[in-house]
Amino acid sequence: MPTLLVKNAHLLTMDDHHTELSNGGLFIENGFISKVGATRELPSTADEILDLAGHVVLPGLVNTHHHFYQTLTRAVPAAQDTNLFNWLKTLYPIWARIQPEDIFISTSTALAELALSGCTTAADHLYLYPNGSKLDDEIAAASEIGLRIHASRGSMSLGESKGGLPPDSVVNDEDSILKDSQRLIEKYHDPKLGSMVQIVLAPCSPFSVTSDLMKQSAKLAREYGVHLHTHLAETEDEEQFCLQKFGHRPVGYMQEVDWVGDNVWFAHAVWVNDEEIKVFAKHNCGVAHCPTSNMRLASGIAPIKEYRKAGVNVGLGVDGSASNDGSHLLAEVRNAMLLSRVKEGITGYSLSDDPNRKLMTAREALHLGTRGGAAVLGRKDIGSLEAGKCADFFAMNLNRIEFAGMHDPVSAIVFGQPIRVDYTVVNGRFIVKEGQLVTVDEHKLVEKHKKAAKRLLT
Ligand SMILES: [Zn+2]
Repeated sequence: MPTLLVKNAHLLTMDDHHTELSNGGLFIENGFISKVGATRELPSTADEILDLAGHVVLPGLVNTHHHFYQTLTRAVPAAQDTNLFNWLKTLYPIWARIQPEDIFISTSTALAELALSGCTTAADHLYLYPNGSKLDDEIAAASEIGLRIHASRGSMSLGESKGGLPPDSVVNDEDSILKDSQRLIEKYHDPKLGSMVQIVLAPCSPFSVTSDLMKQSAKLAREYGVHLHTHLAETEDEEQFCLQKFGHRPVGYMQEVDWVGDNVWFAHAVWVNDEEIKVFAKHNCGVAHCPTSNMRLASGIAPIKEYRKAGVNVGLGVDGSASNDGSHLLAEVRNAMLLSRVKEGITGYSLSDDPNRKLMTAREALHLGTRGGAAVLGRKDIGSLEAGKCADFFAMNLNRIEFAGMHDPVSAIVFGQPIRVDYTVVNGRFIVKEGQLVTVDEHKLVEKHKKAAKRLLT
């Protein structure tokens, strides 16, 4: 049984007591944490010893919303300066050219980027399958690089000819979607402690899927005990679409199609009112907050403080790389903190003379990126550094120019500019070591990715 001792670090455990140790470490056995504590209280020997003096160590970040394939279409000129619906209409025809090997390459790139930003578990939402592409290609790439994955079998079935937004060329028939969903669950879904692969059912959005497919997907997911995920209340356009087509606002529509419950989480959830926040809280629906994408596409600002106050689980997501245009999860933590402050400014924080009224702190933002994300995905074995939990963590060396003069080691990595982490460990295995990816060849991957991306646009 291989053991790993991490010692002498500034450790933020994210446990229920927010325990922080200025000289702490972890003892790891067979992919799980067996001891957390002050360095002097830990065993002194192990198969491998990692002395992280001068580093801050945190639980691995959990990404709750992404579209890996979009790393192939970042900063496409025609889609740079427009809102969601126009951005989608520009990109759908390009995405229709994706080949199966593009899914593998883009997954490797997205997960490599995520790992270099401290992410150890990622949920992805793949909702188009052109030219024989399969979710299997994504799962194979994730297993090679070594991150935990919640792979969503996404879908689109409401094409333009039936009043949907996507062109008919990228939608699929509903029987084949449901059959493939069942096949994937039976082949890959592992609900056990320490699971590396889970399957999620994820019809894409109210404007690209029929009500019937929503209902059938919910039924299938509940039969197998897997989670449900979709885009919801992302923009005002979507709200208008739902009112006109379904006679409901987006959240009301979800209730109508049986899409509320503790196995459901929604990406974005920006355009919600107080009553709808209560619906999420009552039914334990989770939210994937994607601040960078919401800013990039001028979608709006999600009411994160209100969600948290109501007891709604909120995690963070980088969203698809074509609306970000990166996969840096620690940058998302920073943007979540900053965007929450912008919202406070708009709603009158500067007029408040209440000395107890606080802005979102760096530690609160990190909580969203760790414990929050784990709760949204329904995982009790990740999100904090505690005995019995998965050995997933990242470490950042604070002895660098970007952190010179920082007076708080934890806040330093949120308030400071987002940079690459020094170590990322998943399941006790190094994915990033001394700032370098160890499970994939970064140079070769970039070359392959550039070639695939160029081919898509020509
Ligand atoms: Zn998305």
